[in-house]
Amino acid sequence: MTALTTRAARHVGFSSACRAVWISGAARTMLSSMASRTPRISARWSLILQMGAFALLMAVLVWPQVQRYFMKEAAEQNRVTARLVGDGLRSALDRYAPLPHLIAARPELVELLRSPDDRDLAAGVNAILLNTAISVTASDVYLMDTAGLTIAASSYRKERSFVGRNFSYRPYFTQGLSGGLGQYFALGTTSGERGYFYAAPVRDGPRIIGVIAVKFTVDAFEARWREASSDIMVTDRAGVVFMASRPEWRLRASVPLTPARRAEIEQNRQYPLDRLTPLSVDRKIGPGGTKLAVIEGAEYLLASSTTSRPAGWTVTSLKRAAPARMQAAVLFAILALLGVLMIVAARFLRQRAAQRERAQKLLERRVEERTAALSHEIAERRRTEETLRRTQAGLVQAGKLSALGQMSAALSHEFNQPLQAVKAYAENAQTFLDRGETGEVRDNIGRISRMADRMAAISKHLRNFARRPGEAIGPISLVSVIDDALAVSAPKVKASGVQLDYSRPEGAPWVMGGHVRLQQVLVNLVSNGIDAAGVQGRLHIAALPAAGGWQVTVRDTGPGLPPGAAEQMFDPFFTTKPMGQGLGLGLSISYNIVRDFGGTLWGANHPDGGAIFGVDLVAADAPERYVSAREAAE
Ligand code: ADP
Repeated sequence: MTALTTRAARHVGFSSACRAVWISGAARTMLSSMASRTPRISARWSLILQMGAFALLMAVLVWPQVQRYFMKEAAEQNRVTARLVGDGLRSALDRYAPLPHLIAARPELVELLRSPDDRDLAAGVNAILLNTAISVTASDVYLMDTAGLTIAASSYRKERSFVGRNFSYRPYFTQGLSGGLGQYFALGTTSGERGYFYAAPVRDGPRIIGVIAVKFTVDAFEARWREASSDIMVTDRAGVVFMASRPEWRLRASVPLTPARRAEIEQNRQYPLDRLTPLSVDRKIGPGGTKLAVIEGAEYLLASSTTSRPAGWTVTSLKRAAPARMQAAVLFAILALLGVLMIVAARFLRQRAAQRERAQKLLERRVEERTAALSHEIAERRRTEETLRRTQAGLVQAGKLSALGQMSAALSHEFNQPLQAVKAYAENAQTFLDRGETGEVRDNIGRISRMADRMAAISKHLRNFARRPGEAIGPISLVSVIDDALAVSAPKVKASGVQLDYSRPEGAPWVMGGHVRLQQVLVNLVSNGIDAAGVQGRLHIAALPAAGGWQVTVRDTGPGLPPGAAEQMFDPFFTTKPMGQGLGLGLSISYNIVRDFGGTLWGANHPDGGAIFGVDLVAADAPERYVSAREAAE
């Protein structure tokens, strides 16, 4: 079935199916263009219309083709069956044709015909005929005289013996008597069996003195046909069914009998006329010009006939049309299914493509929107950063001014003292000048000059500290920054009475940062340490190598960090100092400065008491030529 289906699909189905699918595709395009013009046609309706168009095209174009193919295929098989059966029947019967001639040549037959009343001779011939019938599997072999009277027969022992019966009415007898080979098909009037008769003349010299007939029954053929897939029907010239695979068709008239034929049958007693009831055979033309027959109103049968000459029989093979139709229906269903699948797949792919396109557009739009939002955000961020930087710079400056403010008391003392000394030395110098003691005058002026140098040094540090620091970060000398920070802090240290010790690092370490800014951080830490340590307190400053860089620590002997300060001390404006003494900006500004250098500022309570603050800095290579911040500023 599968192979057949594939072949059929190749030969007929597919071209039509493809055409149908193509036309359906065209219809689809038409429908979809209609749909685009009339947007109210929903997707579901368009699918229903497409399917409808496809179904119509399949029914009109494909179904007839598929059906025609399978019917023709089955009809061809049936035709072959009819031919084979016809050939088989003819060759089987032809084999028997020479038999009557051979039997007629036996001398006993002539002897009996010469002396028909010789009982012994008749018994001998009867036995011969019986043996012959058995050996050639004939149903009857019998000898008739020229009047058609049977004088010896193989059935001599049977109840319905042919002996004594006259068959002069049978055409085979007359044919035999006239010297030819008699051939005839009839229902035996004595046996009631259908049989095929052969007859040949029995000659006594040139004279025909009798006729020998051989009868074969046809049941064995029919028994074989019943096993075949097709039904077989053999009709004579008049259309009477004398052999059939189905018993109910036998000896029935497949066409109405003409009066002449009826008279002939009656005369030859070929068939009993009362049994020749009509057999309703409705002939039709099926798909592909195939011949169909409906017998007795039953199902459709494919009918193929061959006529065998000279007997004039028609052998008809009748094959059920339903299986061929079923095969056609199955292939049609497969093609229809394929078509539907193709339509559905095409729709699916189209929908997916449309969806993808929509998604793509949506994505593009979102990307555009997001890009616009991002560029807006970036601009906003830049502005914020700029503001932040400005604010931070301002805060740094404010922090420094604050530190200056705090230090102003110590500074005024620091300046006041040398100024008073300068005044005293100047007055002394005048007095010594009046006295003419020039040596003393020079000595006092020298002291005045040293005092002025000291004040100039302090002023220079303060000026540097108050400057707005540059943004640049690069290698700076750690030792020199610490020195400068200590110089700035010196007045406050002195005023506070705090004892400061400094462990100067080995070598000349270089770190990444900005000179003035780091100095500001250290000044701030020293200042906080002094505030915390109080009078009699101690401050220890150290610079040691640490992982990847250097660590500067400022440790005091104060009370340590106030409760809760550890979490907030780097926040701007966090201070625990009394009003007017602390702004709470020192550590937050320092924290950001150190972070800008890639380092870290931290603070904690020391296990031995007091607080310790540390600045971790990244190590740097020494530049080829070092220009200190102070030099650069000058
Ligand atoms: P300010 O010195 O103006 O208060 P800072 O930001 O420098 O601002 O310090 C914030 C706070 O951190 C101080 O008010 C103090 O509570 C705490 N702090 C800073 N340094 C020390 C220290 N060495 N010992 C104890 N507390 C400290």
